[in-house]
Amino acid sequence: LPRIVVAGNGQLGQMLQQAGAPMQLQVMPVEPNQDIEIALHDDDVITVEIEHWPDTVTGLQLKKHPNFRNASALHAVIDRQRQKSLLDRLQVPTAPWVVLENEAELAEKLESLGERAVVKRRRGGYDGRGQWRWQRGAEVDAEWAGSCIAEAMIPFSHEVSLVGARNAKGEKVFYPLTRNWHENGILRTSVANLPVPATQQQHAEEWLSRIMDDQGYIGVMAMECFVVDGDLLVNELAPRVHNSGHWTQEGATISQFELHLRALAELPLITPEIKGVSVMYNLLGRSWKPEWLGVDGVHVHWYGKSLRPGRKVGHVNINRPTVEQLKESLKSLRELVDAEDKIAFDWALEQL
Ligand code: ATP
Ligand code: MG
Ligand code: MG
Repeated sequence: LPRIVVAGNGQLGQMLQQAGAPMQLQVMPVEPNQDIEIALHDDDVITVEIEHWPDTVTGLQLKKHPNFRNASALHAVIDRQRQKSLLDRLQVPTAPWVVLENEAELAEKLESLGERAVVKRRRGGYDGRGQWRWQRGAEVDAEWAGSCIAEAMIPFSHEVSLVGARNAKGEKVFYPLTRNWHENGILRTSVANLPVPATQQQHAEEWLSRIMDDQGYIGVMAMECFVVDGDLLVNELAPRVHNSGHWTQEGATISQFELHLRALAELPLITPEIKGVSVMYNLLGRSWKPEWLGVDGVHVHWYGKSLRPGRKVGHVNINRPTVEQLKESLKSLRELVDAEDKIAFDWALEQL
C-alpha cells in the first residue's frame, strides 16, 4: 500500500491516521507552512486536509509531487469566484451571485441580488470568517472591491450536506444527507440518517457526481446545501473530509476517513451501511467530561489542541440504534454539558 501524506496537521489529518491504523496503512500529516525539506517517496500519495498554503519549501514539495491528488479541484475551490463559476458551468443550482470588482458599482451589484446579501472574501474564509451581511441602504465597504463575491441571502429552512467519494475508476459512493446547524458561520451540530425526501438525495448525488467526474476527483468531497421550499441549492464545496461527516466514525460501517483512504490507496470502494441514527456535537472552546462516557452511545473525539474561546477542539458522536434511544441519550447528555451548549441538544432533539 502507498503511504498517504496529508498536507496540514490538524484534526482531519489525525483522524485519517486513526482510520488507516487498523490496516497498518501509513498516514503522515505534514505541516506545509515551513521551510524544511521533507523526505517523500516516489510512490507516496499526497492529499490535503486544508485547502491552501504558502509556497514554502515543504509546501512546494507537496504540490509538485507527481502523486499530488486533486490539484484541479483545489484550484477551483480555493477561490469562491472560480468555485461558483464551476457550479454554474455544471448547471448545479447555487445562490445567485455577483463578483464585486469596480468600487463605483458595488452598491448597484449588491442591489441586483435583492434586499439582503452575504459578502464573502474570495479566498481564505472558513467557519464564517471573511463574510459580511449587507442589506439595501446599508453602507458598502470599498475594501470589498476586487477581493469578494456577494450572494443573495437565502431564506433556507435548514442546511444539509452530502459527503461522497470517488476513486480513479470513477466509482462513487455516498452517505445520506446530513442535517447541519451552524451558528455564526460555525458548525455546531449535525444529525444523520433522518428520513430525507428521495429527490433531494438523488439531486445531491447527481450534482456531486457531476462535479467529481468533471474534476477527475479522487477521495472524499463534501457539498454543503441550503434547503429552500424542499429543494436544494448548493452553498459550497469542500475537497476533503468534512466536519459534517464526522458522525460516520461510529454511525457507518465505513467512516468518511476510511473511505478517503480507500479511494486514494485504490482499495475497494463499497457503499457504507448506516448504523442507526447519529448526532455529532462540536466541542467549541470547551473540554469534555469523563461522566459523558456513562451515556449510551457517546463517543468522544478529542484533538489534543489547547483551549481557546470558540476553537474546535473535539467532537462527540452519539450513535444509537433507534430515534427513541437517541433522544434518551441526548436528554441525558444535555444535563451533563455546559449551560451554553444545551442549545445544541435542543436543536438536535427538535430534528428527531
Ligand atoms: P466552512 O467552515 O463551512 O468552510 P465558510 O466560512 O466557508 O464555512 P459558508 O459555508 O460560505 O462559510 O457560510 C457559513 C454559513 O453562513 C453557512 O453555513 C450558512 O449558515 C450561512 N450562509 C452562507 N451563505 C449564505 C447565503 N447566501 N444565504 C444565507 N446564509 C448563508
Ligand atoms: Mg468553506
Ligand atoms: Mg461552509
